[in-house]
Amino acid sequence: MPHNASGAQFATGLKKKRIEVAFLRRLLTRAVKRFGFFGAPRELFTYVRNRRNILGDGPARFVEHKGEYWVVPDLPPLGSAQLLEYLLDDVVAVNTGARGNLMVGILSVASTCPHHCAYCYAHAGATESELPLPRLLETTGALLDAGVVTVHLSGGEPATRLPAVKEILRRFGERGRFWLLTTGYSMAPEDFQELAALGLTGVMVSMDSQSASHVEHVKGVPDAFEDAIAACRGAKDAGLLLAINSVVTRELLQEKEFRGFLTFTGLLGAAFVNCYPPKTPPGLRGAESSALDENPPFTVWEFERLNALCVASRGSRRWAKLPLAYTPDVWEAGRGCVGGEHLLYVDIDGDVRPCPFLTHSFGNITTDTLETIFTNVRENPHHERCGTNRLLTEHLFGDEAP
Ligand code: SF4
Repeated sequence: MPHNASGAQFATGLKKKRIEVAFLRRLLTRAVKRFGFFGAPRELFTYVRNRRNILGDGPARFVEHKGEYWVVPDLPPLGSAQLLEYLLDDVVAVNTGARGNLMVGILSVASTCPHHCAYCYAHAGATESELPLPRLLETTGALLDAGVVTVHLSGGEPATRLPAVKEILRRFGERGRFWLLTTGYSMAPEDFQELAALGLTGVMVSMDSQSASHVEHVKGVPDAFEDAIAACRGAKDAGLLLAINSVVTRELLQEKEFRGFLTFTGLLGAAFVNCYPPKTPPGLRGAESSALDENPPFTVWEFERLNALCVASRGSRRWAKLPLAYTPDVWEAGRGCVGGEHLLYVDIDGDVRPCPFLTHSFGNITTDTLETIFTNVRENPHHERCGTNRLLTEHLFGDEAP
């Protein structure tokens, strides 16, 4: 079994084929139960021919972690009942034009952060107060009840509120797939061990580059790079899945630089690298927005270039021992905006929004009942899309929103 230098393991070749066959057999069995003997192949065939299907071009290797096989961090592992049910729900949604089901919830556990990233969507809504823990617990339960499986515990910096993170995991760690989104600030190795014992699935460490000076410049504090490295090591030593979240710079669009970054993060033990082009969160003003001038929004060509590099990282033999890289925007142009459908974001003020890049609120967890909020999610969908999605949809599909 090939693995990279620090331990993320990949299933390839025959082993991967066996996993795929087992997965397809389980999917077909469940599809027959749901759609009937003749209906199942028809529905699945219709689904895979629709550009909105989420199967897409799968990677040439799967990440193996604790006996499960992962394709992408936001979805549960292959063969899990959670993924199979979600896929079949998606078949119905895509084939009938209905709304899909929720999968990912981003929960802002903490409102503060010692770092000062210009692009941070939480910073855009800067607030002084923390959301009350009992309400965060109720909201986590409501997200899981509504179908969310993957929960991102985010902020601000969630490490500034570790007791709340631990309590959420203590209550719900077995019900969902929880990721901690952190800069690594103030996290000790024992914290990762404890979070792993409470059911945390993985850690997404914010690291935009392998250049210490760049990371420290973006984050505005001197130890930011060392914190991120220590967080990667702490997560790996605790047996957690490791992903890197990177707001990429234009330099990374050169293949040599991109490979170098993946090699670096692979040596730290990362299984995944999530690549986010620079975007301006709504509400960002003044000094913060001018700081974004250093890394202005991508052009269509740059979005496509980043997407091509990520596709190469997943498919080419030459990249076989490196982490799987993903970037959402070109994919989402074909799929359609997933905000409010597959994704919900609870921001640092308690507003439940479709996505960090949209201002629409389904309600606020400090002032509205969860029943009202989730009724709004189901019955009052929004039709906003971010500028990136509009730009790419128009370019790739002639302004025809999927
Ligand atoms: S608004 Fe944009 S970033 Fe947010 S989910 Fe939709 S397409 Fe994605």
